[in-house]
Amino acid sequence: MDGFEYTAHPARIIFGSGTIKKLPGELSRLNLSHPLLLSTPEQTSHAEQVKNDVLHGKVAGVFGQATMHTPTDVTERAVEFARSSNADSIVSIGGGSTIGLGKAISIRTGLYHIAVPTTYAGSEVTPILGETAGGRKETRSDPKIRPGTVIYDVDYTLTLPVGLTATSGVNAIAHAVEALYAQNSNPIISLLAQEGTRSLATSLPELMNDPKSQRARSTALYGAWLCGTCLGNVGMSLHHKLCHVLGGSFNLPHAETHTIVLPHALSYNAPKVPEALRRLAEALPESNGDAVHGLNVLLAKLKVQRGLEAFGMKESDIDKAADIAVSNPYWNPREIERTAVRELIRRAWAGEDARSDL
Ligand code: NAD
Repeated sequence: MDGFEYTAHPARIIFGSGTIKKLPGELSRLNLSHPLLLSTPEQTSHAEQVKNDVLHGKVAGVFGQATMHTPTDVTERAVEFARSSNADSIVSIGGGSTIGLGKAISIRTGLYHIAVPTTYAGSEVTPILGETAGGRKETRSDPKIRPGTVIYDVDYTLTLPVGLTATSGVNAIAHAVEALYAQNSNPIISLLAQEGTRSLATSLPELMNDPKSQRARSTALYGAWLCGTCLGNVGMSLHHKLCHVLGGSFNLPHAETHTIVLPHALSYNAPKVPEALRRLAEALPESNGDAVHGLNVLLAKLKVQRGLEAFGMKESDIDKAADIAVSNPYWNPREIERTAVRELIRRAWAGEDARSDL
């Protein structure tokens, strides 16, 4: 076995069905009594339900304007609301956008942050915060950004629309894929990556037919936790950089872009990462020992959109994206070669199946 370094990060995880009922006990354990609840406009009903049924109105308020990519003007309004309402903590109920707002408030105010994730994006267990100001998204990492407690309540994922269930789940698998070949990979995180991929790759196809299946939802959320933990512990490479460029420069949707790019990014790195491919192939059903094929099969079963063109990316943007993707050096298992990266982006744009000839 190669040498490695492993740092365990603090994590308090409460997992199960109906676990939101543990929120009052968690607040009193922390000597907190006046939380500000956060949601997007689409999920205020979840926040209101927590306020009325779980906390019986004992909250500082509900701020229901969380927005994708965490714009700083929204954060400033939320911080002002938290201060004027004397909030002593934050409870974010939602996906990466709402949890991002919770992180942004917490790092500015020092307020304790409890996250209640309702997608599979994984932000709740990472020290990473991406914020947008003046049209530019900047990402930073700080251990203080990581929420103090995560309450995974499977029941809140039952309403996740089928399309977002599929793409958010593949977004999570992308964290595991890149963790398996990370520069600072280690055996513990590789175990989580394999188990996380297996959990999602088996449960997501079931959810396409039966989105309310408690058993499949539970397996998927468990997989999302494991994959998020991978993202929070080791460095990511080409796939995450490309998705960041595509999302930021061409305003492409987060989970859908990850879903389209992932098999192509894996096929680009494949020649350099045989052990990661072996482990992934083991975790992906019907892979026949070929991880790229396994991902193609999974995406076909999930009936997801395969081409970036469908989300408004123009053919002329392919070269622009390739230029940006190769302009800033970063670590990747395979050297970044413009011609091959351009072809990767072209295939993702056109919606082709990934092939192992990049
Ligand atoms: P999202 O949070 O933007 O949610 C998408 C939509 O789905 C929203 O309208 C939301 O209210 C709705 N929704 C979420 N859960 C639902 C549920 N259970 N039922 C019904 N509706 C529901 O989507 P996302 O993909 O989770 O997050 C994307 C954002 O998170 C991006 O900005 C991305 O950069 C960020 N992110 C950050 C990290 C990190 O570590 N910092 C990790 C992953 C994603």
